[in-house]
Amino acid sequence: MMEKTKYGAIKIDGKKVAEEIKGEIKEQVTRLRAEGKKLPHLAIIMVGDDGASQTYVDHKVKASKSVGFHYTLLRFAETISEEKLLKHIEQINQDDDVDGLIVQLPLPEHISVERVTDMIQPAKDVDGFTNQNFGSIVSKDQGVLPATPYGVMELLRRYDIETKGKHCVMVGCSRIVGAPLSMMLSTKGNATVTMCHKYTENLATFTGSADILLVAVGKPGLITADMVKEGAVVIDIGTTKIDDASRSRGFRIVGDVVYAEVASKASYITPVPGGVGPMTIASLLLNTLQASEERAIY
Ligand code: NAP
Repeated sequence: MMEKTKYGAIKIDGKKVAEEIKGEIKEQVTRLRAEGKKLPHLAIIMVGDDGASQTYVDHKVKASKSVGFHYTLLRFAETISEEKLLKHIEQINQDDDVDGLIVQLPLPEHISVERVTDMIQPAKDVDGFTNQNFGSIVSKDQGVLPATPYGVMELLRRYDIETKGKHCVMVGCSRIVGAPLSMMLSTKGNATVTMCHKYTENLATFTGSADILLVAVGKPGLITADMVKEGAVVIDIGTTKIDDASRSRGFRIVGDVVYAEVASKASYITPVPGGVGPMTIASLLLNTLQASEERAIY
């Protein structure tokens, strides 16, 4: 399982782990089908026709199909009113056959992301974005974990990387990635956590003291080797599309970490692409399976 990068650090292979998780989910679905039980059903809402959103939605549909879930894709014009969109979400909330619902972001400017997200029934919120699920990270309630942070925690767990008592430094503290991941590392991982953001002064002072450094900013080249402690674990969540005429697609995806130089100093590192990205979709599938199992109980 452990493959070294050519620079020295062990590669945390999110693509491989995500495939393992999908294989496990597929087995569960096969068992449900053999027992004549209801199969997990994921609904996806997409508003408008943004190219990047379309690619993410295509990946989610493909992943749902590959594990044998039922799925429903609802597409609406960019001009749909917030009121109408909320009504559609309410209908899906009431639909007993649907276990999970995701609304692909971003939404057009006239629609409030917060109102839309919070309309999703928390038990069906398989992205883990609602305020109730966010709050459950720090309460004793059993909530749905946000997909990307869940994927990171799962990668650390499957690579036996201990977080208990370690100093984790989270760079970037957005509502969907950095903030929930910081809380999960602290409440579920028993780590000591430092959160850094764009106003953090002397960022390198903090990153340089991290046993586990996690970066979710969206600024290529932000983290260089001199900012990383020897032997640290480095998790790069950033994804930025940059032009690259040498690629047939005309672009490539890069993270926030300067990979080659940091990989020669770190003990473990996630590549971009192929690190955290595939785990986000695997977590969505896990959340949908779990939502369907819980609905089957009640
Ligand atoms: P976001 O909402 O734009 O948040 C970026 C965060 O970075 C904010 O907390 C911001 O600080 C902080 N920041 C900005 N400049 C900084 C700097 N120079 N130093 C330190 N912190 C800085 O973005 P997001 O949704 O969290 O996404 C972050 C990155 O992760 C993006 O590249 C995105 O594409 C990627 N992502 C990847 C996945 C995946 O599956 N791989 C999933 C989600 C996101 P303030 O809070 O002070 O503004």
